[in-house]
Amino acid sequence: MTLLKAVRGTRDLLPPETELWNRVEATARRVFARYNFGEIRTPLFEDTQLFARGVGEETDIVSKEMYTWEDRARAQSEKAQSLTLRPENTAGVVRAYIEHKLGETGLLQKLYYIGPQFRRERPQKGRYRQFWQIGAEVIGPPSAGSESPLRDAEVLEMLASLLDELGITGWSLVLNSVGSSSDRPRYIAALREALAPVKDQMSADNQRRAETNPLRVLDSKDPGDEAIIETLPKIADYLDDASKAHFAAVLAALDACGVPYTVNPRLVRGLDYYTRTTFEFTHGELGAQNALLGGGRYDGLSEMLGGPKAPGIGFAMGLDRLILTLQEAERKAAAAQAAVAGVPLLADGFIAPLGEGLNTAALEMAKELRRAGLRIELGDGAFRLKKSFEIGNKLARAIVLLGEDEQRSGILTVKNFATGEQTKIPRGDLAQALKT
Ligand code: AMP
Repeated sequence: MTLLKAVRGTRDLLPPETELWNRVEATARRVFARYNFGEIRTPLFEDTQLFARGVGEETDIVSKEMYTWEDRARAQSEKAQSLTLRPENTAGVVRAYIEHKLGETGLLQKLYYIGPQFRRERPQKGRYRQFWQIGAEVIGPPSAGSESPLRDAEVLEMLASLLDELGITGWSLVLNSVGSSSDRPRYIAALREALAPVKDQMSADNQRRAETNPLRVLDSKDPGDEAIIETLPKIADYLDDASKAHFAAVLAALDACGVPYTVNPRLVRGLDYYTRTTFEFTHGELGAQNALLGGGRYDGLSEMLGGPKAPGIGFAMGLDRLILTLQEAERKAAAAQAAVAGVPLLADGFIAPLGEGLNTAALEMAKELRRAGLRIELGDGAFRLKKSFEIGNKLARAIVLLGEDEQRSGILTVKNFATGEQTKIPRGDLAQALKT
């Protein structure tokens, strides 16, 4: 019989790695709360139209990477429907904003999400078919200040704080303005004109995009087309005064709060809904898939989905890649200190009952210590002493022996595996002793 395995591009997350995931998620929630964001949870699948309209038919995501199926009707009253596993979460959040009429509050909506996304990409390190994103959106009617460059700067500053708080050093922020919906047609016309004489020398995908959606040529990763792409007009030269002033105000606000950045006039990002500010945070440690997170403004997205005018800005951070970066940093720190920083791989204590008659007493002791906040592994009285020591040494920093003598006297024998030291500790002092 062939063994069943996790589907290509998906993976299981196991302890102790999941501990790091929890720590990252808890840090993100804490930081978002300080900026007064609230959590939104949208469904994992949506009407296919949402992504076709929102993300754009010609994007790689929609044209090649979506998991889409025809959902059959189960009753007369139902209609068959094309459904898609969400490849990203911004479209879902904006759909929910429209559906629940959140704009009618007249206030900015500041929403964050943490959850899996699905794209049929070629799997490699840092690229999966089910991956996790942490993201946030600031969206609202223009009267609430949703278009203000201050919002862009606030989101970017929040991200810098989050990465700092997670202990990620060495990130770079790259940003650009891709112009407003009024700059876009002039730029696209210029791109078409520049592409017309050279497009035949490009890959089949880019030849098609040159016709259907020339902007997408710019985020092509086809190395053979790079030289031509370099010669194409830059969006910065097509921004109108309002877009230029908006971008300049974002940069000035970043300067004022000390967030370092570089401007890359080629950064356009692979989704159609972006307008004006777009950005990426990258990290050298990640190799080819070096984008930790990406985002930008999407001032027209709500209207594209049939909603009210609701400019917004948001980002999505790849949790899988963030974890890889942290693990890499921790591996380096571990090599230096022979300890994995921040992630306690070993339990504080391993309780070894000496004989099966002591199992329940050991369970009781483990309960007390766990309630005192310690991380405790519980052995089994059926184990020989040697086996308890072997297992304890793998799982914990110390072993606590609970024999009949110890049970009677209330004085436990504790051996610290790192120092080899063996001490007698009164039960009341045990929690304190295991902590240190
Ligand atoms: P995007 O929605 O394409 O702007 O992606 C935002 C972030 O999600 C990226 O910067 C990555 O960190 C992460 N990401 C996107 N696609 C994948 C994937 N297939 N596997 C892992 N992370 C991904």
